[in-house]
Amino acid sequence: MARKQSELKILLNGTLVPESRAKVSVFDHGLLYGDGVFEGIRAYNGKVFALDEHLERLFKSAKAIALEIPITRKKLAADVVRTCKANGLRDGYIRLVVTRGVGTLGLNPYLCKKPQVIIIAAAIQLYPKKCYVQGLKLVTVGTRRNAPEALHPRIKSLNYLNNVLAKIEAINAGVMEAIMLNNDGYVAEATGDNVFVVNGKTLVTPPVWCGALEGITRGVVMDLAARSGYSVKEDVLSRYDLYTADEVFLTGTAAEIIGVNELDKRKIGTGRPGRVTRALSEEFSAYASETGTPIA
Ligand code: PMP
Repeated sequence: MARKQSELKILLNGTLVPESRAKVSVFDHGLLYGDGVFEGIRAYNGKVFALDEHLERLFKSAKAIALEIPITRKKLAADVVRTCKANGLRDGYIRLVVTRGVGTLGLNPYLCKKPQVIIIAAAIQLYPKKCYVQGLKLVTVGTRRNAPEALHPRIKSLNYLNNVLAKIEAINAGVMEAIMLNNDGYVAEATGDNVFVVNGKTLVTPPVWCGALEGITRGVVMDLAARSGYSVKEDVLSRYDLYTADEVFLTGTAAEIIGVNELDKRKIGTGRPGRVTRALSEEFSAYASETGTPIA
């Protein structure tokens, strides 16, 4: 990423401020209760990738938690672009956060004054480069994904504690990422990524009701794969399906597409990211660098 200044410029409620001065109140319910919503967005080749899809998901998440985003979708789109521009960002990661805002020490969100809108445009490297070449090792963890009837997985909220607990279990087991199951013991997703299995010309990913976030990258990969002649389905997956698949890969805005070479000490496929994973990664990179909302 081209960074012109030593400090990032953060867009805080419509004003650009240096990161050392970008502060929120200790009474913000985003901090006190994880009450808020967010998006992670990528910029590739001077363009913001899938901005409309991210804003759509953000506004729906906000609506589901009865949080009224204080600016229009159009203005927010312009603000994302503005923040990238202010930081000289052509390739990187944008974090768009809307918190419930400053309230009392009680839970009542209706006592919060005004939602805070925060936009950070920075660099990101989620996994080391060698993991993309060799594949990522995963373990299944005991922490279950939130049940959809408790907190719907479509809501991308600031409440990531169950994912954080899963991540702790993975790291304690000596790997970087976890497979999370739902309460029925079926595969939901990874802690910050969706999961796919590949068998021949068929791709399968768990449906949202199994506990998966409706990932933007997941959607793009499903479309690209269908266009390339794969049969793409959402279906219930068990760990057996992952252990015995030709290939397993994860998708996410930050991770992009990353092959899995081991799950619970079972080698997946050849033990290296497979042919389909590599082909889809290349297609995804080409597509992502061509499309998007121009920053300049
Ligand atoms: N699942 C979870 C729990 C996530 O937080 C994310 C985003 N990091 C994803 C899946 C992937 O979604 P997207 O492709 O929209 O980034």
